[in-house]
Amino acid sequence: MLNKKNVDDLKDIAGKKVLVRCDFNVPLKQGVIQNYKRIDAALPTIKKLLEQKAKIILCSHMGKPKGEPLPELSLAPVAVALSERLGVTVKFADDPKVTSDSTKKMAAELKDGEVLLLQNTRYRKEETKLEKDETAIKFAEELAALCDNEIFVNDAFGTAHRAHCSNVGVTKFVKESAAGYLVEKEIKFLGDALNAPVKPFLAILGGAKVSDKINVIENLLGKVDAIIIGGAMAYTFLKAQGYKTGKSLVEEDKFDLAKSLLKKAQDKGVKFLLPIDHVIATAVDFEKKEVPAGATVKNTDGLDIEDGFMGVDAGPKSIEKFSEIVKSAKTIVWNGPLGIFEVPEFSKGTVEIAKLVATATDNGAISVVGGGDSVSAVKKAGVDKRISHVSTGGGASLEFLEGKDLPGIAALPSK
Ligand code: AMP
Repeated sequence: MLNKKNVDDLKDIAGKKVLVRCDFNVPLKQGVIQNYKRIDAALPTIKKLLEQKAKIILCSHMGKPKGEPLPELSLAPVAVALSERLGVTVKFADDPKVTSDSTKKMAAELKDGEVLLLQNTRYRKEETKLEKDETAIKFAEELAALCDNEIFVNDAFGTAHRAHCSNVGVTKFVKESAAGYLVEKEIKFLGDALNAPVKPFLAILGGAKVSDKINVIENLLGKVDAIIIGGAMAYTFLKAQGYKTGKSLVEEDKFDLAKSLLKKAQDKGVKFLLPIDHVIATAVDFEKKEVPAGATVKNTDGLDIEDGFMGVDAGPKSIEKFSEIVKSAKTIVWNGPLGIFEVPEFSKGTVEIAKLVATATDNGAISVVGGGDSVSAVKKAGVDKRISHVSTGGGASLEFLEGKDLPGIAALPSK
């Protein structure tokens, strides 16, 4: 899975058309791009192809238009942003059908070193139906025809866990496929962490539900030396062991599973760390992301949470305990916040962990952070630049950590 053919392995591409699947699914507000990270992350691959004087055709999805050409999900603003960043005019095929004759003409007329961006691939409902609808493959064929069935590069890690027309289907209709630099970097960091970690290897998992991360925990238990569980997930593990969790978010039907995971960790000699104290609150306004007027917030002394309160963050003693393990780790994988970090009063545990992971990285550890919320947390803590690798794919990185083959990567040839 890991030693994939990449952009550097493509030879003699001057004058050839290269179709590149990027992840330009950027946050937009009234047509204005709110965050350029995904666009910037795609630049190294595009620049390399530009240097080689290829004819570059870029494609991506944006949001979930489900087959409707919604103007608010047009990729037009991305073409402007790309033009500014690349210093060349990126042409835009504003075509609700993505592969109409007008687009074919623009692709056919591309000159060496020119760039064309296609319209949102999800304007075509077939895009996401590759595995469900036999006719969808035709859309993949149409996309491949735009690059004269020559070369396809997949640089969209964010959709690598999905088999769609523009990342998997298209590989069946081109002579050569390769991974872009971003995809290569993602699979290198995640792959090395999972398959060849420098020990001790620590996983930090947080977030809302155990049920979302069971497969990750199970897969990691066979690989890590220690695992820290935080966020609401922790309360299911604590209640399963008989501690009081008040009105914390708990998955009652996962108690047996929680117990079996704890036993498995013990059998394997994996340190399994749960919070030993908590920040608790009588109420949280999840909509407004604030503590409602009149709510009480306090710290517990120990593990139990009294009735009427819910656990909202790891307490100071827990952070102290976790810090020892984080400091000694040489490989750290982190997915999911340790509390309701969107509410400033409950973000301390997550922010402290982010700082500890950054310091461990400064001292030589390899750190990989994935999942939308943990990525925002490292930014919020102002330490994102000090993390070895911040993954651009939430769902994709989670499935990678589960040990699954990602279809978008599996469809690319090995070297
Ligand atoms: P996930 O998508 O599974 O990584 O979960 C992220 C969400 O978990 C965030 O929106 C957090 O606010 C939420 N979360 C973390 N800790 C808690 C908690 N103690 N109670 C409720 N929600 C939590």
